[in-house]
Order: sequence, then structure tokens, then C-alpha cells
Amino acid sequence: MNSSPRSIVVLTGAGISAESGIETFRAVDGLWANHDVNDVATPEGFERNPQLVYQFYNQRRQQLLAEDIRPNAAHTALAKFEHDFPGEFLLVTQNIDNLHERAGSQNLLHMHGELLKMRCLNSRMVFETRENFDFDTECQCCRSPGNLRPHVVWFGEMPFFMNQINMALEACDLFIAIGTSGNVYPASGFYQTAKIRKARTVELNLDQTGSSFDTHVYGPATEVVPEFFGDLLDQ
Ligand code: NAD
Repeated sequence: MNSSPRSIVVLTGAGISAESGIETFRAVDGLWANHDVNDVATPEGFERNPQLVYQFYNQRRQQLLAEDIRPNAAHTALAKFEHDFPGEFLLVTQNIDNLHERAGSQNLLHMHGELLKMRCLNSRMVFETRENFDFDTECQCCRSPGNLRPHVVWFGEMPFFMNQINMALEACDLFIAIGTSGNVYPASGFYQTAKIRKARTVELNLDQTGSSFDTHVYGPATEVVPEFFGDLLDQ
């Protein structure tokens, strides 16, 4: 790294949670946890078969809440870095799990929503949930069944916090993407937005992704993330 960064944006994807036991999404074969993404991660899929979609996210939520699913060394290293770093730090995650907050991350945006939340289709009010819900669950605001959906962003929908994220990307001098395949738009273009304003861009991933970051570091997140962010603090 040339000089100490003052403003950092980190983007994480499913790869950072893989070593915690949460399956990644494999865009190449279009399958997520053995389901076709068109069935479980699109508004059309939800319209076609809502029960399948409810069941899919109920399963993901119960898996996330299982005792053996915990933040790993990469989540913890990011939270520690945020705590110790004197400059601006924003963590943007595409993940819908809650492992970053459980590790202690503070300035965190879930651009694709959260598994532990549901939303009313009428009022757009968002409610926390750790329980299963489906078409028969009564909504807390309109007291009617059939109005609740998972608070996750599906393909074809606008991710959350885009203004805030773009402003941070345009202001940062270091952008780091961790464990993301670069197949899901618009997150796949974040490094280019950061580059326009001359930020240095770094990718930490298990494998090559085909995106042209300035620096690529390959290895499992639990190894490369603590090492990279430890070195960054020492600069
Ligand atoms: P992706 O599954 O498309 O890509 C995962 C990337 O992580 C790959 O490039 C892979 O090489 C890398 N990887 C796998 N194991 C790794 C490890 N141990 N260390 C470092 N890197 C590793 O994920 P994506 O780019 O985040 O896009 C998937 C979409 O699916 C997102 O929108 C997300 O909302 C959703 N999703 C979320 C979760 C979650 O919340 N944990 C899980 C699956 C899918």
C-alpha cells in the first residue's frame, strides 16, 4: 500500500461467511442452497410459488440461528479494524446473515436486506423475526395474513442504501471487496466507481474472479482478512 488510507469502504459477499458454515451462492450454475435462483430470489418466483419462497428463507433463517453458526476470524478482524482505525470506515455487505453485527461491526449497511427481518407488502414497515412465517402469518401492522415477505432484495429489485453507498465509494481512497464473485449487479461495479475517484482497489478472495482490482490477495477469508487488515493498521 502506498500511503495510509483515510477513508475505507469494504464490500463483503457470501465468501466471508462460508467458513462459518453458510453456503455461498453459485451464480455460475444459478443455484443457491440447491434451489434455482429464479424460484427463490425473484419477485416472479414469489408470485408463482410463495410457499416455496417462505420455506426457503425460513430454512436459511433457522440455519443461521443454529448454535454452531458463529462469526469467524474474518468477521472479527473487520470489527476490530473498524474499532481501531482512526479514519472513515463503511462496511457494505451483500450478505443477509447477521454475522458482521454479531462480530461487533458498527457502521454496516445490508444492501440486500436481512434474513432476520420481514416486511409488510402494504405499508413497507419492517419487523424483526427469528421465527418462521408464511402466507398465513398475521401482519403486525395491518392484522391481515398474506401481507408479509422476507426483507431481502431479489434479482430485479433495487438494493437498499444505494445513495449512501455511492457517496462513500466516491469519497473513499481504499476499496476492498471480500468473498464476492462479482456476478451480482450493482455490487459488482463498486470497485469501478471507487476507481474513478482514484481509490486503490483490493480484492480478497479464495479464487480469481475476473475483476480488475489493483491488488488481488487469494486465500480463505479467515486467513487473508485478519492478515491484510492487521497490516493495514500497522501502516
Ligand atoms: P457468491 O456466492 O456469488 O460468491 C462467493 C465468492 O466467495 C466467490 O467468489 C468465492 O470464490 C468466494 N469464496 C468462497 N469461499 C471463500 C472463503 N472461504 N474465503 C474467501 N472467499 C471465498 O456470493 P456474492 O458475490 O456475495 O453474491 C451472492 C448473493 O447471494 C448475494 O447477493 C447475497 O445476498 C446472497 N447470499 C448471501 C449469503 C449470506 O448471507 N451468507 C449466502 C449465500 C447467498
